[in-house]
Amino acid sequence: MNSFGMGGGMTVANIPDQQKLWESCLNYMSLRVKKHSFNTWFKYTRGIYDSDASSIVINVPNQFVADWLSDRYADLISEAIRETSGKSIDFLFEISHPSEFEPQTEIDFNPRRPEPAEIPAHARLDYPLNERFRFDNFVVGKFNQFGHAAAVAVAEAPGTTPYNPLFIYGGTGLGKTHLIQAIGHYVQEQFPRKKIVYATSEKFTSDFIYAVSNGKINDFTSLYRSADILLVDDVQFFSGKESTQEQFFHTFNDLSHSGKQVVLTSDRHPRDIKGLEERLLSRFSSGLVADLQPPDLESRIAILRKRTDHEKVVIPEDVLYFIADNVNSNVRELEGCLTKLLAYASLEKTDIDRQFAERALGKEIIRPRREISITEIQKKSAEFFQIDAAMMTAKKKTSRIALARQVAMYLSRKLTAFSLKSIGEAFGGRDHSTVIHACDSIAKKMENDYDFREKVTSLEAALLC
Ligand code: ADP
Ligand code: MG
Repeated sequence: MNSFGMGGGMTVANIPDQQKLWESCLNYMSLRVKKHSFNTWFKYTRGIYDSDASSIVINVPNQFVADWLSDRYADLISEAIRETSGKSIDFLFEISHPSEFEPQTEIDFNPRRPEPAEIPAHARLDYPLNERFRFDNFVVGKFNQFGHAAAVAVAEAPGTTPYNPLFIYGGTGLGKTHLIQAIGHYVQEQFPRKKIVYATSEKFTSDFIYAVSNGKINDFTSLYRSADILLVDDVQFFSGKESTQEQFFHTFNDLSHSGKQVVLTSDRHPRDIKGLEERLLSRFSSGLVADLQPPDLESRIAILRKRTDHEKVVIPEDVLYFIADNVNSNVRELEGCLTKLLAYASLEKTDIDRQFAERALGKEIIRPRREISITEIQKKSAEFFQIDAAMMTAKKKTSRIALARQVAMYLSRKLTAFSLKSIGEAFGGRDHSTVIHACDSIAKKMENDYDFREKVTSLEAALLC
């Protein structure tokens, strides 16, 4: 456990209840900070008044939250303690293991708290953001807490944190675009004078190519370099595009030298983006690199519930559970199932219950990913390539064994939610970079070799049925 002290004040006696005090402080602060900021920084705290040391020990999930609270909210915390206890009491932070963390209290937010004014005309955004991709619609759990906290941190104080650039990475459908656009929305509303430029890396590339071939490079440069906050989604597509990378490198340097915020997303860690110039790789990794993991069951249910609330439809809990239990790979698929279910129900003009959901989301819709283990993939791949299953974890390397192993790694990556690291471990303690190499080379071989693609696809189908 780490701890460090904050605040200043005198000893106090007779605090009514050691835990209630912090709950009152939370209530006080919830009326003074925006809801999602509160949920990010305070919801997972627990405070206990230690009367021997006459201080409040505030448990937080990680150093990141401790730093942010002490940098940005120390005064508010002191004020909350003073206002709710009538005294000044020291406080200090302690980092606790994340599994100990459940939200402290459900805070009823004051509905009269003024919402930010509407967006003034001079807020300029050169690429529309999806209305739904806001922090308020983003479900936070242990699986994505760090990435979310980092995103909120830069949105609250763009360009003034050490998290520049903020690099968010994670598998497909895990919320990268949602988060990066939520930063855009937040900055647009809270800092209306700041110019936000949002682009996918493909748009950046095509804008650049257009500018070069039409003699409009100055327009291009002035658009991207005038940003106060530059959001670039899916930078893995810069891979292998040398002149675009060079242009991006200069844009990046220019912005970061003038204290502008850059946020990037990618489906993999910067070091795993192939064909990325060394200097760009080092820039990408120079701020904060945060990852998003697949959601656990409870969070998957919460995500579905949030979506049904948003759509104003009512779906029984057991149906939500059924979907969340069966779709465990990513949020996009989870939502896809819900959409399909609603579509079927409206076509058949029927209420949705568990039987209907099972019928509507039959085998062909819900692939039984939950049931596929890496061991099973290894076994079936070994059978398919007619090698001994033990070779999957062995050192031995004939070309057939190596190919079978690579295909099994590729399918493990595709059909399960395990991380590259866990997959590597399951294949005889291999490194995550070996798994990436396997995935890339199988994908490439599938692109170029029709027969091979057919083989892998049929193996995948066999695993799924
Ligand atoms: P990515 O860019 O990582 O592929 P997206 O950001 O496009 O994924 O997310 C896919 C879908 O899942 C979107 O509709 C998004 O709103 C939703 N989504 C992802 N993560 C969450 C979350 N934590 N809470 C609510 N919705 C989420
Ligand atoms: Mg995306």
